[in-house]
Amino acid sequence: MSKIPQNPEVIVVGAGTAGLSAATALLAAGIETVVLEAAAHTGGRCVTDTTTFSAPFDRGGSWLHSVSLNPLARLAEQRGAVLHKAPWLWSHVHTEGYDLTSDEVLAYRGYQEAMWLAINNRGAETPDTTTAAAMPDGPFKTSATCSIPQMMAGDADLVSAADVYNYADAKGDWLVGGGLGAFIQDLHPGIPTQLNCPVSKIDYNGTGVEVTTPQGVLKAKHLILTVSTGVLASGAIEFVPALPIQKQDAVEMLPNGLLNKVGIEFDPAWCDATQGQIADYHTGDDAFCSLLFGFFETSIATGFLAGRFGEALEKEGVGAATDYCLQGLRTVFGNDVTKYVLRTDETNWSTNALTLGSYSYSKPGGAGARKVLAETLDERIFFAGEATMTETYATVHGAFLSGQQAAERVIATRVGASATLTRLKI
Ligand SMILES: Cc1cc2nc3c(=O)[nH]c(=O)nc-3n(C[C@H](O)[C@H](O)[C@H](O)COP(=O)(O)OP(=O)(O)OC[C@H]3O[C@@H](n4cnc5c(N)ncnc54)[C@H](O)[C@@H]3O)c2cc1C
Repeated sequence: MSKIPQNPEVIVVGAGTAGLSAATALLAAGIETVVLEAAAHTGGRCVTDTTTFSAPFDRGGSWLHSVSLNPLARLAEQRGAVLHKAPWLWSHVHTEGYDLTSDEVLAYRGYQEAMWLAINNRGAETPDTTTAAAMPDGPFKTSATCSIPQMMAGDADLVSAADVYNYADAKGDWLVGGGLGAFIQDLHPGIPTQLNCPVSKIDYNGTGVEVTTPQGVLKAKHLILTVSTGVLASGAIEFVPALPIQKQDAVEMLPNGLLNKVGIEFDPAWCDATQGQIADYHTGDDAFCSLLFGFFETSIATGFLAGRFGEALEKEGVGAATDYCLQGLRTVFGNDVTKYVLRTDETNWSTNALTLGSYSYSKPGGAGARKVLAETLDERIFFAGEATMTETYATVHGAFLSGQQAAERVIATRVGASATLTRLKI
């Protein structure tokens, strides 16, 4: 970390991907900037754990999605990063007491493709509706409905079809060797960051901004705010004056949904599933997990639990999500499989006070709220973070781009200010 400037021109709140990319762009433009981060580490929702397992485990974001449209994928290529490009496909599906045959698994894959196409088509129409209302009929509809929160972090009956339509999707999801969180860290060295520094108040009454933290009050001309919509909705940060009602409505329309991970490391002697395979496990209602095998071409699998069910398990207590995944493993591969499990760990993003969820989804009718959330307030408070991005929300590259765009808006405001002064002089 670099030295913390006492009178920065810009304060960035949050050292996740958006905050780091905003600060990097500002510093490159010669603008004195400080990042205030509540946690004891940087990275936010994109952080690599290198100690729990024998290989890196991304506790949050791990894939570079839509690689042809993803600037981080270009950067990873330029930097010679090790890239794991193998596609992920369903090999096993257990649905409410029944194991699909291999032909049925193929049909399940086909239904998944048709389902996203139907949701996208419906999302292009008005008025907006839920993804659940846009699902085509078919034998796999019930289980596939439970897989929606695995992508959107919100349940199918809560999520806007228009927001899905707006998302810029393209084929290709890559993993970066060493973990995506570690890659993002390496991309943003030397940023003056104050850790363990939760911002509790942002005052933009006078000129500039005044920020209250346990370490004291800091002033700056501009502020870039990158915290999640979960944190914004919680009231953990007081705004003086209060955020305009349109902003508050936008936050309300963009809840921070939930995707949790359970890391499961196997003895390499267990070879019943290989890199790129997915097993879906559905036991009724919204009880569902997906198990993805061979992360970073190792013997680490990740279980994904999302939406209401993920939240219920997280509330139930430590180990509940892991138990459900292990139950799924035993059901799909036989009771012996758990003998090969060396270690496990699970995330708890919905109760993490610094995120209060994993990533944002839009309620029906709320897809336009992302633009409102991104709007600058009084030419002083600039908003960034994944939720502000209409086409790349819920992603690491969206957060990265949002930080750069907020920095560009700060720079444009400064240019605008000097241009105005010049005109006044004339
Ligand atoms: C389980 C999971 C899996 C995911 N998978 C993928 C994936 O494979 N690919 C992908 O592209 N995306 C994925 N995502 C989404 C991606 O990780 C996020 O969209 C992205 O990391 C968000 O970055 P951000 O900078 O917008 O927010 P954050 O990373 O949340 O950054 C905000 C920062 O603000 C800090 N903060 C909060 N409150 C305060 C305060 N009061 N004062 C100061 N600081 C504060 C937080 O600690 C945090 O560091 C996943 C997310 C999760 C949780």
